[in-house]
Formats: sequence, C-alpha cells, structure tokens
Amino acid sequence: MESDVHARDLRQMHASQIFYALLVEPGISQREVCERTGYDKSTVSLIVNRLQELSIIERSQAKKSGQRGRPMESLRISEEGGLLVGVHMEFDCIRFVSSSLGGAVVHSKDFPLPKGPDSTGETIRKGLALFCDGIGRDVSEIQSVGVSIPGQLDNDGKLVYSPNLHWRDVDLGAQLHAQIDGPLFLGNDTKAAALAEHYFGVARGIDDFLMVSGGVGFGGALFLDGELYRGSSGFAGEIGHTKVVRNGRLCGCGAEGCVAAYMTLPALLERAGAVDSAVVTLDAIEARAKQGDEQMLDLLHESGELVGLAVSNAVNTLNPPVVILAGTLVKLWPFLERGFHKALRANTLSAPFAQTAIRLSTMGLDPLPRGGVALALQGLISLAGPTGLPSTQSD
Ligand SMILES: [Zn+2]
Repeated sequence: MESDVHARDLRQMHASQIFYALLVEPGISQREVCERTGYDKSTVSLIVNRLQELSIIERSQAKKSGQRGRPMESLRISEEGGLLVGVHMEFDCIRFVSSSLGGAVVHSKDFPLPKGPDSTGETIRKGLALFCDGIGRDVSEIQSVGVSIPGQLDNDGKLVYSPNLHWRDVDLGAQLHAQIDGPLFLGNDTKAAALAEHYFGVARGIDDFLMVSGGVGFGGALFLDGELYRGSSGFAGEIGHTKVVRNGRLCGCGAEGCVAAYMTLPALLERAGAVDSAVVTLDAIEARAKQGDEQMLDLLHESGELVGLAVSNAVNTLNPPVVILAGTLVKLWPFLERGFHKALRANTLSAPFAQTAIRLSTMGLDPLPRGGVALALQGLISLAGPTGLPSTQSD
C-alpha cells in the first residue's frame, strides 16, 4: 500500500514538473520536455498523454523558423475551452474569478460572505451556480475549483483560525467537499498567491523563493525545489509573526512585537491615524507620503526597517536566492525601500545578503486575485498523476 502511495506522489510530482516546463516554455517538443525535466522518454510520454486526455495540454505540428525537414511536434497548454474557477474569501465578500488553463482571468463577480462558518459550503455551491449562469457557462463545465482562505489551514483542510473572518476551528475542507461535486482544492490565501506568482508572475521559472505579502493580514510563503514548503502540518511560512520589537505592539496572534502587529492594514492605519487622525485609508497614507509629510515618511521608513529586519532573519536561516515582496509592500515601496534595505544590510550575514535578490510582485495588488485559480490549476494537474480521477481532494 505504501509503495502505491509513493508511486502516486512521484507521478504527481512528474506531472507538475512537466506541466511547469510547458507553462514556462510553451511550444517545446516532447524531447525538450525530457531535457528540461531530466525524466526519461517513457515517463514523459505517459504523463503527456494523460495531460492530453484531461485536455490540459495540446499537441501541434510546428516547424521552427529556418528549419528544414520533418515538422517538430510541439506541446502547449490548452488555452481554449478550459474553465477554472478561483474563489477568494475576502474580509467583506466572496470573489469568484474564472480563467482559462493559462491563468488569464476572464470574468469576476463578488457575492456576500456566508452568514457564518457553517454555511460556507452552501454559499460557495450556490455562488458557483449563479456565477456560471452569469457568464453563460454550465457548472458541469468547471474543470477545477480553487478556494483561497485568509487564515491558517492545516493539511487536512481544517481552518484553525482566521483573524479576518474571526472564525476558529472550522472543518472547511470536509464542508466544501460535501457540498460541491468535482475537483476542489483549498489553500491559505498568501500561499495561493505565491503559487500564482510561481505560475503566472514574477516567480515564473524560479524554484526557490520566499514571499512576503502585506494586506489585511501580513503573511508569507516559502517555495523549495519548485514546491510550496508546508512544514509538519501546513503552517510553515508565517513570517508575519517574526518578532521585530521586544515588548512591542500586541499582535492578533496574542504575542507582542510581531512584524504583523505593525504591518497588517489595520495596524498600519492605526499607526498612521496616531500621526494624523484624518488618515483612514491606504491611499491616504500613500498620498501624505507623496506630499512629503515628514511624520508619514518617518513612519513608513520605520515600517521598511521592521520588514527588512524580519526578512533578514529569514534570509539568515534559509538563504533563499529570491525574496518577493507583494501587496501593500509594493504600493508603499518607494517609501519603505530605504529603511528596508538599511535593516536588511545591517542584519543579514554578508554572504547570503549578497546572494539574495529582492523582487516586487507584479500582481500583488491586482483587484482580480489569481491565487484561487492557481490552486485550481495545481489540483487539476495533480489529477494527471494517479490513474483514474478521484472526485475531490484537499490541497
Ligand atoms: Zn503575531
């Protein structure tokens, strides 16, 4: 039994690597897929056939320009016909987005949040039907659904705690699978956003990176060898709870001095409000800084230092080649940058400091988030591993 499980995991890994090679380099041949992944011909052929059966990839005869002789068979991700749905639990609504298999968002619509945690499955099931109706598609056409949740999810799909939704100990995975037919995958929102960066964004083609993302929460995710690192039960990557001030501000987690206690959106607004009570939005913080308001610039400089200090601790421990900053960090970057680099340089060991590139997300503030779509796509590809399609899985 154990070796069956191992073989299935291995095939899933092969499928995800082969798919990724095609995502990064569309139009390559099966032989080139073997070269890029290092897998043998029979493994690649088996997985490619399976991905084709699932209509995830398509073959075409193409001649590379200037080449004579037999046209080469090229493989690419099928752009037509695919329907993935990403579901994002925001703090004030549930946002549904549909996309093709290539990740381009086609439609989106917001629905009200469920009345309580116990009705989430039913709310999403009804939302999917209404959403599909609105875009002229049938629910049965959906190939995969990804649900992105703002909170700590364990590997079994249980929501341990969501500070934004104020929900605790909800067996969301079981509830969603009971209510919704077909492949459905759920995951933490920051980790899903990191997966979206890996598939469609600034981390495309990068197998090892740390992402730090500011928003209503302040979270992180760690990719190692092209896979999200989960830790023993799914909670790895919570860089927001790195301590940056001894006996500092109280954090939502109950501890003091976490970087999240300074950098979540509510924390930022509270700190900015103490400087200028008229400032109640992120845009207003940015506007004051752009006007050269000294106090706001000082506050953002200090904020940059705190984030730089948290990142330096992670860089010293993990030596990642790339750190990606996303969300509010991108929006406020011109005012955070100097403090961030100052603290990073001062607190990181010289060798890892020199080796770490800092990059800004290009989709961190996208009003149409793609994390849910990335979860749906990753889940769909994982189905190419096992022979036979399981009806549902947790991420
Ligand atoms: Zn904390």
